[in-house]
Amino acid sequence: MGVDLVLLGPPGSGKGTQAARLSAALSIPHIATGDIFRALVEAGTPLGQRVKAFLERGELVPDDLVIDVIRHRLGQADATHGFVLDGFPRTVPQAEALDRLLVELGRPLDAVVYLQADRQSLIERLGQRAEVEGRSDDRPDVILHRIDVFLEQTAPLIDYYRRNSKLRLVDGTRLPDAVAASIREVIDSLPRDAV
Ligand code: ADP
Repeated sequence: MGVDLVLLGPPGSGKGTQAARLSAALSIPHIATGDIFRALVEAGTPLGQRVKAFLERGELVPDDLVIDVIRHRLGQADATHGFVLDGFPRTVPQAEALDRLLVELGRPLDAVVYLQADRQSLIERLGQRAEVEGRSDDRPDVILHRIDVFLEQTAPLIDYYRRNSKLRLVDGTRLPDAVAASIREVIDSLPRDAV
């Protein structure tokens, strides 16, 4: 059996890196809404055009659209035995929708790992990524806006998941191997029937 995980954290906290490692180590799909949206933009469809405008400004894609995408993705065969969600949920309505969906599927989340990182480390990392990957939302002004959007709309999820005792905090400012080791400890500490 796999695990149902959410990786939560500000832009630049290392969610993508850690989710990819978890996906390989646990043989569960890495579901990154950012990647799904970038693929939609690439495809150039009318939906992609609509999504593009949000991405370029560093704004969140509307909840109903994001939730549809996730509902569809979690229904695919490879997600039957676990998943790691990266970049979803990002708002309280998204978290509530995920809870409802998982109740329908009869599989509650096993853990929500929050990767903590201070503002300065995030700005530095995203600035470096801008040079390597050339993502159009890694421009300095958009980076600052994405961090603000996180603080306003996504940070409330920390309390949301603290209330249902799913939340585990991990220091995301360390090197990827050290962060991965801490996440592994979290997973190993989950009740046996979860893993
Ligand atoms: P980062 O974590 O560095 O911001 P992502 O690839 O996770 O990178 O997200 C990139 C962009 O995709 C976000 O700024 C937002 O526009 C959009 N996006 C991704 N996930 C969501 C989501 N769950 N809800 C709304 N918008 C999202």
